[in-house]
Amino acid sequence: MSRRRTPTSADCRRALWLLGVAPPLDHDGVLRAWRGRVAQAHPDRHVGDERREQAAATLTRALNEARETLDWWIEQDLDWPSARGGVREVRFDEPEPWPERAPAEEVAPVCSVTGLRRGDRVRLRPYDGDVLVVEGTEVDQRDRSVWVRLVDQPQPVRSDRVRLAAFSCPACGACAGPAVDEPTIRPCPDCLIDLRRLEQRPDEAARIRRAIEARARAGESLAESIGDGRLADRARERRRWARRLAPAGPDDLQAALLSAFSSAWERWGERPAADS
Ligand SMILES: [Zn+2]
Repeated sequence: MSRRRTPTSADCRRALWLLGVAPPLDHDGVLRAWRGRVAQAHPDRHVGDERREQAAATLTRALNEARETLDWWIEQDLDWPSARGGVREVRFDEPEPWPERAPAEEVAPVCSVTGLRRGDRVRLRPYDGDVLVVEGTEVDQRDRSVWVRLVDQPQPVRSDRVRLAAFSCPACGACAGPAVDEPTIRPCPDCLIDLRRLEQRPDEAARIRRAIEARARAGESLAESIGDGRLADRARERRRWARRLAPAGPDDLQAALLSAFSSAWERWGERPAADS
């Protein structure tokens, strides 16, 4: 497999997430994690069912790339990015390991509490006003509340008053207005949370599938209410996809959901602001 580009810290973070490991790591640790995950996902376990085979193949490919990324990271002896977990890791200003890298490749890390990142478009409660742009998030250490800084706004806003706007989730079809020429195509915060949970608790796959189907249905009616046919089409397609997965067993379901999330993440990472 040939690598298309030098891994970024976002790639590294995603690789850690996919393999379900936390840094620091060595080559043996990567190999152990990779073996465990690939044993579950391997396409040979799903022979005879084309759809499941395909989902498993996609996941296996993602796992192979994750292993390659982490091995490369270890060889270069780079600092590990903060991968997941506690509120203390919420930051958008993480230093990038390659300051000389082209700016087009820069992708801000995702806040592990709000699922937001710098550049996201949002609206404030009651969610019908102007679209604002996220600058970053911060935690008030006194009460652990999370605050969102917004471009051109003097005061940060409590995260529970902030909601993504003008976006569509390629994993579940959730979306939000207003209708714009180029909505942000990105995994929604619910998918980020659900799928992190799925990574830790495979037995939640059935519940998560139902939640995705419900979000797709809600996304479809919302897209129709704001008159955006493309968002409605995506939500409808995701609803059908989630429904087709209903009879799948827990392992297959987990593989399919992880591979959907993984490709949503990849697309978001590589094309942070627009869709064709
Ligand atoms: Zn979603």
